[in-house]
Amino acid sequence: MVAIGAGYPIDLHTHSLRSDGALSPADLVKRAAARGVEIQALSDHDTLGGVAEAEAAGREVGVRIIPATELNTESEWGDAHVLGYFIDPGDSELEKRLRWLRSKRGRRIELMVEKLNALGYAVDLARVLEIAQGGALGRPHLAQALFEKGYVPSYDRAFQTLIAKDSPAYVARVGLTPLEAVTLIRAHGGVPSLAHPGTVVGLSDVLPKMVAAGLAGIEAYYGEHSPEMTARYLYQARELDLVPTGGSDFHGRGEHGADVGGVFVPPETIDRLESRRRGA
Ligand code: AMP
Ligand code: FE
Ligand code: FE
Ligand code: ZN
Repeated sequence: MVAIGAGYPIDLHTHSLRSDGALSPADLVKRAAARGVEIQALSDHDTLGGVAEAEAAGREVGVRIIPATELNTESEWGDAHVLGYFIDPGDSELEKRLRWLRSKRGRRIELMVEKLNALGYAVDLARVLEIAQGGALGRPHLAQALFEKGYVPSYDRAFQTLIAKDSPAYVARVGLTPLEAVTLIRAHGGVPSLAHPGTVVGLSDVLPKMVAAGLAGIEAYYGEHSPEMTARYLYQARELDLVPTGGSDFHGRGEHGADVGGVFVPPETIDRLESRRRGA
């Protein structure tokens, strides 16, 4: 395999085409392997649909896949995204809830397309769906469509302008609260960790509540964290007995996230997370 730059051996946060990433699960895992990743969580938003393909590729190239999902919530607590690890991709009750969340994602993007159209941006829902290739819909697909039409100078700029939170075309997410996301992961045997805690508003208030609901980890290691932020989350992890987790949040689109394997995660993290499974 062609080496494409050295990464770290553990990555607990990655996205494929099954949600808003750019690579198929197999290509994503192959990229991870080429960068030296040995253990990778596939954490697509609101779906486990890519896990089987990732596992098959992982067997070929020697990457252990941890089945995971990321549940995005938006509320008075800002953006609280909950990663759930060690989830059974065959859990049909959970799949029902995830399907409901994906339908909410679809409706939200439809509404944003309508608003953009009303504002004079002729972005086409059919094209957005084509870009998503059946993956869980999100703003990244819309950003790509806006970029293709020349309405934004780059994919990344769309998030600061036309589809930013304070843009007239923005539609807030409806779905789970942060506590419900933690509870849902726990109810289905998963181990929840709070993703990129910097996007949460009122973290020190909500974190103990999330811990009471079953939160087991906090993503202290993340590409966009300053050393001070990482230190603060490591401190909070110790105070609240949370496992510090980490990952790249690689999407393969624009500048958002690091490259797969691009963030250091301590080797003991996997065992520590596994010890937080209940009834295992
Ligand atoms: P949504 O869940 O539809 O609100 O979109 C959130 C997703 O958009 C995240 O999961 C990232 O994939 C991506 N994203 C969020 N903020 C940015 C940003 N500033 N630049 C690029 N991508 C972003
Ligand atoms: Fe995403
Ligand atoms: Fe996220
Ligand atoms: Zn993510």
